[in-house]
Amino acid sequence: MTNIDFVFTEILPIIKNKPQDMAEYTKKQMSLVNELLHDMPQYACPSFCSSCCSGSILMSYVEYINILLSMNETELEHIFSSQLGVMEDGGKLRCPFIQEDKDKEHCAIYEVRPLICRVFGTSASPCQEEIKFPQFPDELFYHAYNTLYYMTEDSFIGLPLPDDLVLYEAPFDIWAIADSGKTAELIDIFKRHGSMRSVLFNLNDNSFFTMKEDGKRQIISWNK
Ligand code: SF4
Repeated sequence: MTNIDFVFTEILPIIKNKPQDMAEYTKKQMSLVNELLHDMPQYACPSFCSSCCSGSILMSYVEYINILLSMNETELEHIFSSQLGVMEDGGKLRCPFIQEDKDKEHCAIYEVRPLICRVFGTSASPCQEEIKFPQFPDELFYHAYNTLYYMTEDSFIGLPLPDDLVLYEAPFDIWAIADSGKTAELIDIFKRHGSMRSVLFNLNDNSFFTMKEDGKRQIISWNK
């Protein structure tokens, strides 16, 4: 594993104060999503298993803020000093919330883990143990997704980047860099490593895209 060239401890003082602006809105949206997920069939992953916790786990800005709000000062310092910016083999970001201590729950933020971990986790990669995972109805999933990603039908929640770009969906590490205002540095990181699955929006042609390691843009078309 290697690290991306960015000093996360330097941005922690800025990030610590960030959630407050969005706290009320985030809590409201998360409460709506939790109501929707309440009806989702339950399943139990073995607590030690993190088989599906790899490959740049994407989340909305609202979920990123919700995770920040859930962490105390010590936890934030631990995450920002040693867990962020770690690249797995294959050029994706390792989830910073995986706990290696097998006596602990594998996920340090299990109660506030992103939607993708709740809904697609077990179907995204082979499980170590056979478990029955739920078929979450598409309709409910997109309702929850839109609650997290969109303020209105036409207006999503993202962070502005240089070159008329907006960050739409990203791993926690990438949201933190963008949220700190170090957006030029973030674009440089994307140029070196690709966007590591982060999804950007181009204001000039209204397209969503990811950036590959060679810098080429891969346009995404969604049917939601
Ligand atoms: S947030 Fe938790 S459940 Fe999701 S990938 Fe990370 S460790 Fe796994």
